[in-house]
Amino acid sequence: MMRAAYYEGSKTIRIGDCVPIPPLPGSVQIKVSYCGVCGTDLHIFHGRMDHRVKLPQVIGHEMSGMVSEVGRGVEGFAVGDRVTVMPLDPCGQCPACMAGHRHICQNLKFLGIDASGALQSLWTVPAHTLHRLPPGLPLDLGAMIEPLAVACHDVRLGEVKAGDYVVVLGGGPIGALIALVSRAAGARVLISEINDFRLQLLRSLGLDVIDGRRGDLPEHVESQTGGAGADVVFEVTGSAAAVEAATRLPRTRGRIVVVAIFPEPPKVDLFRLFWRELRLQGARVYEHEDFDRAIALAAAGAMPLDRLISVTYPLDQLEAGLRLLEGGGRVMKVLMKCADEEG
Ligand SMILES: [Zn+2]
Ligand SMILES: [Zn+2]
Repeated sequence: MMRAAYYEGSKTIRIGDCVPIPPLPGSVQIKVSYCGVCGTDLHIFHGRMDHRVKLPQVIGHEMSGMVSEVGRGVEGFAVGDRVTVMPLDPCGQCPACMAGHRHICQNLKFLGIDASGALQSLWTVPAHTLHRLPPGLPLDLGAMIEPLAVACHDVRLGEVKAGDYVVVLGGGPIGALIALVSRAAGARVLISEINDFRLQLLRSLGLDVIDGRRGDLPEHVESQTGGAGADVVFEVTGSAAAVEAATRLPRTRGRIVVVAIFPEPPKVDLFRLFWRELRLQGARVYEHEDFDRAIALAAAGAMPLDRLISVTYPLDQLEAGLRLLEGGGRVMKVLMKCADEEG
């Protein structure tokens, strides 16, 4: 059955019929297999992005699926191809696009926020967003490529190298993936997290974890680095306490990468940036090369993506998935199954 999950405002999701859109020239239609639910979807559900979404809006942007129809002029993709989507539609004309920063276009359309998303059986997208999934990668893991690409972008902009000591503040799905990608780059990694379930899961993946509630993170990092401090710190929580920690942890000329979205402007101790000549780097979404890297890591079996998926629900239980994330209990990634896998 062709279904779609519609966000209708004020914490309401309605499951209804999917209205398939025939692909125009340059577009393709995809039969969506799986779609992950993320913090952004939860923000939308909570009404915090009502200024961007059009009601009723199909949300969702972390997906895998199979091409079901190809528009005129699309080359390199055929019906049945297994794909994921980089859900960015830049204008191509603004100063950011002209500077080569198309992923942070000044008029960026993010598919699943500013335009229709993937939480439906059939989704039509511009062909330039497509990335082919490697053969042998199960489609549920294919839905993890988008968050993995976020992590690849963050690690690339943080210039993480082999031998670096990396601290990740926040061990949700993105923090966990940043830690795993950093480890794959040869770094030593410590993650700070406050949720017991996530601490346990991260530890079981062989990662060094520290309970953020203990308050001894700076001392720990100092003792692990011979008094130097961390090479790179990723701030993935969006909390004032983590910003305070982030400026205390780096070594001289270390980097702080801001990944989190801050609801309030945090207080930042710029004296510490001055004193140790620290570099503050923002990192937002991804570029095509980050998707390529994410797909290569997944294809190599280098990432325990299956371990990060806590539960898979049928599409009509999207609200249950959002509530589970909202509760912040024993959960990492929630996937929704959007259509059957055959054909
Ligand atoms: Zn997301
Ligand atoms: Zn642009």
